[in-house]
Amino acid sequence: MASVQIRGIKKQFGSTQVIRGVDIEIEDGQFAVLVGPSGCGKSTLLRMLAGLEEITEGEISIGGTVVNNVQPKDRDIAMVFQNYALYPHMTVNDNMAFSLMLAKKDKSFIQQQVKKAAEILGLTNLLERYPRQLSGGQRQRVAMGRAIVRDPQVFLFDEPLSNLDAKLRVQMRTEIKELHQRLKTTSVYVTHDQIEAMTMADQIVVMRDGLVEQRGRPLELYDRPANIFVAGFIGSPA
Ligand code: ADP
Ligand code: MG
Repeated sequence: MASVQIRGIKKQFGSTQVIRGVDIEIEDGQFAVLVGPSGCGKSTLLRMLAGLEEITEGEISIGGTVVNNVQPKDRDIAMVFQNYALYPHMTVNDNMAFSLMLAKKDKSFIQQQVKKAAEILGLTNLLERYPRQLSGGQRQRVAMGRAIVRDPQVFLFDEPLSNLDAKLRVQMRTEIKELHQRLKTTSVYVTHDQIEAMTMADQIVVMRDGLVEQRGRPLELYDRPANIFVAGFIGSPA
């Protein structure tokens, strides 16, 4: 686990500034939710945290260490995407083991990590199945398993539930929350769904047009929105 500090972050694509000076503090073990309309810069910010996108200006620290120049693979971060493409020709076991195999971890360690993740996610009886033999929710769990096996300091989620139907979304939301209560891994979760934000977050960060409008505990934002945008965004149903 580790705290995350985002200080004075700006991001420019060509001459367009899409992140215009963002400061966010996320405490050790906190579940932070970035919420805001499509195009406001949530994914770009997450990709900068992961090291997949260069920072134009500002500083990102993880666990007190500035990571601006640290390669993605050395950041001790695991990302769960919206399109959780599993490897179709690999079993559940191998899908989860793969990144550790690439990192040349030893076999017994890999098996131990996969076993632990499978237990946490209720996948123990599905380890020999292939992705096509799984339900949507089970696939989503395997995608999370691939992140968990690495014991990262930080989890990044980019709208991981947006491809699921409404019922499954509610169920997975609860499962992710329970997972966080169990592992207490610092998490940054991106969504444009206000209900997800309100029910999952320790801290909500409301973004708009490359800036943070307000951040705080869900009830703080609900009771004392800083402006009409936050009030409308947090107050209205998804
Ligand atoms: P969100 O995830 O909140 O929907 P994004 O971070 O994906 O928003 O995008 C923020 C803005 O940056 C959008 O206007 C998008 O078009 C632009 N953008 C994202 N990636 C690139 C890129 N590689 N090149 C140019 N513009 C980009
Ligand atoms: Mg996005």
